[in-house]
Amino acid sequence: MSDQSLRKIVIVGGGTAGWMTAAPLAQLFAGAGAARPEVVLVESPDIGTIGVGEATLPPIRAYNRSLGIDAAEFVRRTQGSFKLGIEFCDWGRVGHRFFHGFGDFGPAIENRSAWQHWLRLQRTVDDLPPYEDWSVATVMARANRFAKPEGDTPSAANAFAFAYHFDAGLYAAYLRDYAVARGAQRVEGLIVDVELRPQDGFVAAVKLQDGRRIEGDLFIDCSGFRALLIGEAMASPFEDWSALLPCNSALAVPSERVAPLTPFTRSTAKAAGWQWRIPLQHRTGNGHVYCSSFISDDAAADTLLGGLDSRALDTPRQLRFTTGRRKAGWVKNVVAIGLSSGFLEPLESTSIQLIMDAVGRLIQFLPDRHCKPQLAAEFNRLMAQQYESTRDFIALHYKLTERRDSELWRYCAAMPIPDTLAHQIELFRATGRVAILDRDGFSEPSWVSLYFGLGLRPEAYDPLVDAIDGGALVQHFARVRQAIHQTVAGMPSHDDYIARHVKA
Ligand code: FAD
Repeated sequence: MSDQSLRKIVIVGGGTAGWMTAAPLAQLFAGAGAARPEVVLVESPDIGTIGVGEATLPPIRAYNRSLGIDAAEFVRRTQGSFKLGIEFCDWGRVGHRFFHGFGDFGPAIENRSAWQHWLRLQRTVDDLPPYEDWSVATVMARANRFAKPEGDTPSAANAFAFAYHFDAGLYAAYLRDYAVARGAQRVEGLIVDVELRPQDGFVAAVKLQDGRRIEGDLFIDCSGFRALLIGEAMASPFEDWSALLPCNSALAVPSERVAPLTPFTRSTAKAAGWQWRIPLQHRTGNGHVYCSSFISDDAAADTLLGGLDSRALDTPRQLRFTTGRRKAGWVKNVVAIGLSSGFLEPLESTSIQLIMDAVGRLIQFLPDRHCKPQLAAEFNRLMAQQYESTRDFIALHYKLTERRDSELWRYCAAMPIPDTLAHQIELFRATGRVAILDRDGFSEPSWVSLYFGLGLRPEAYDPLVDAIDGGALVQHFARVRQAIHQTVAGMPSHDDYIARHVKA
């Protein structure tokens, strides 16, 4: 160990972010012998966790795999289910629905995305089926079927990905056991003060209500919306994005399990926000995300309860938030991960993804005791890029909708959007091309799902697709569609898959 190596990493907070940070750090140092830095996590049962993060994106699988977690055991222990994407109801307009599935719209043809060829055919072929028929994830979701993609060679029928729904409280507990088994220490206590070093303003220690003092070289702020270290101690400014993402409240309530269990999240747009439905094995997660300027809390609760598919198991729990992010998530020897670093809103299940990416970057740029500001600058640059591109992707849902039937939707139609998003929309509208501004963010098929799903049809398409014979193209599309439908028809139902591969 160099004399400047980290001796102790202190994680403040034991919600999803805290334990998702502790687990890979504990794994990283588990084999480091005497040189291993201590990993200490402080959490307060008096404060509790948000714990509503129940839907994820496909990279969660790589995160779990990197920890060596057995996928079936994980789904069993977290009462999880499989997620192929999100069904959006009433978003483009009332009565309309579309699916944002994980995966592409069929394999590329002559190096051009299949949906470009579909755009071309759609102008001339009268009975062309909808583009969603070439998204395997969408066809599976609509048929309520699930199986994992087969084989390593991309084919029409395995071009999809999946993620999970799970009980966030159970997941944090699972990771806690994992981290503690690999040497992480858990401290229960309420932090009441943060001690700064006079010479450089680094955090020296956190002080607990019972008088204990916990020193460290590096502090990870996972204290949730409180942002104890990054906000209060380091005073990193908060960039408020609520003009663009106006929802600021949520009511969450569990309800009885739905049958059959659907392999997707449902998001239904409402007058002042939207409602989620997340199917788990033991219950259904529901929530109404809304803007309090446009609806009272009581009316929002009525909307939520009125939109349930099964009997509520509790009274709705209220949550408040401001969308936005810390300008700098890493300042001196404090790195913010999770809600302390920012919150967009749960429309595309991006919070846990942002946690995973922040943890990955923390490990990539793990400092020594100097915590050189250049490392912080690079971490902050990458996180800023990801936060902004995710913000734009979520704002796209609100901006492109044709709904004008309530104050919220009229506000969204008129609201100014960042130049980055305006450029992406205008490029697609005029040319049918997709601009990806952050390679770590949502990829081309996701943007296309949203553009198409919300009703934006471009004025043009990629001219190179005209090189292919039209008749042959129609036949190719028909064959691929048939292969997809045939494969999906042979898959078990989502319930059966869980019964066979998870519960067994
Ligand atoms: P928290 O869960 O708030 O944990 C904070 C921790 O800090 C707690 O352990 C607490 O004890 C500790 N703490 C705070 N102050 C002190 C103190 N003074 N002393 C000691 N300990 C302290 N994400 C998704 O990916 N998918 C979703 O579907 C999703 N849905 C969401 C829906 C809503 C309405 C909201 C608000 C969020 C949603 N999220 C979702 C986000 C997700 O819930 C959070 O990103 C995730 O739970 C991480 O939270 P956290 O660990 O940062 O904070």
